Amino acid sequence: MKVTEHIANAKKTVFSFEILPPLKGQNIKTLFSNIEPLMEFKPPFIDVTYHREEYVYRDKGNGLLEKRTTRKRPGTVGICAAIKNRFDVDTVPHIICGGFSKEETENALIDLDFLGIDSVLILRGDPIKSEAKFIPDPNGHAYAIDLLEQVVQMNKGRYVDEELKDATPTNFCMGVAGYPEKHFEAPSMKSDIKILKKKVEAGADYVVTQMFFDNQKFFDFVETCRKEGINVPIIPGLKPITSLKQMTALPRTFYLDLPDELVDQLEKCKTNEEVKEIGIEWCIQQSKELINFGTPCLHYYSMGKSDPIYRIAKNIF
Ligand code: FAD
Repeated sequence: MKVTEHIANAKKTVFSFEILPPLKGQNIKTLFSNIEPLMEFKPPFIDVTYHREEYVYRDKGNGLLEKRTTRKRPGTVGICAAIKNRFDVDTVPHIICGGFSKEETENALIDLDFLGIDSVLILRGDPIKSEAKFIPDPNGHAYAIDLLEQVVQMNKGRYVDEELKDATPTNFCMGVAGYPEKHFEAPSMKSDIKILKKKVEAGADYVVTQMFFDNQKFFDFVETCRKEGINVPIIPGLKPITSLKQMTALPRTFYLDLPDELVDQLEKCKTNEEVKEIGIEWCIQQSKELINFGTPCLHYYSMGKSDPIYRIAKNIF
């Protein structure tokens, strides 16, 4: 079932979460054992992230470096199928522009269609770690909206190969990203929301937000979206802070602010264990307030660790 159908059928706020595919060379058992306890809260769908290629440099021993391209977390489509098969739950692969040609994207979407996976989260992807700005594949897409339009066309039976006659239309439900604290490249919140509106007008069925720690930012974001005529479901993304390092790493990586009240509490912590307790409690309070606000679904970023999410979900669902 599609994400939007799950939301429409739900009698109350539903629980969902995002996982990362295992690092290359690791097996799927650890991932399964992380997911297993979270199934208690009956997530109607689980998101699986996509990771673009990275450059690694090998010392050739003669003063020269050899540049190699590698994908450290391959297998998003396979993982989606494996989770669906193992837990009988819908999976939502993230599909990114970065590093993919239109044809490669089309082939991945064909695989997903064959597997009965009918929702995708459509994203641009970030720049390659060693590059200052996002560079699209020469035969790929520059923005999420361009990738979205490819999926919209496939849903009408129009594939990249224009010679193809009577191609079967796919039937993907399409999610896109939204940023309660603005995407870092957007010149203003207004222009970022204008882009989001374009994505929805182009066919996006729902929005999932970047993580945030101040609910007021989400409430303001939703209010502005509604005023601008963005009427699709907006799913808040949440993550509990679990280590001292994340206090600086999360704002730097995701371009967000931590509220003073949270920072004051975190600054008193001496160990990661103490931080984790504060982070979980903060996320529980955020979740309760978001449910009261009437949010259709709470979406948690597990980042490979299910224990904090389990403790939050046990309090909420
Ligand atoms: P876009 O919507 O293309 O926007 C990118 C920037 O360009 C924005 O500043 C926007 O305002 C601007 N823009 C967009 N369209 C246009 C246009 N036509 N003209 C001019 N400006 C434009 N990354 C991954 O690599 N893998 C993942 O699995 C992944 N999952 C994510 C899940 C969620 C819920 C979120 C919120 C983010 C995720 N990301 C993931 C990160 C995401 O790829 C980055 O935030 C990326 O920098 C932007 O992606 P986007 O889809 O929002 O891009």
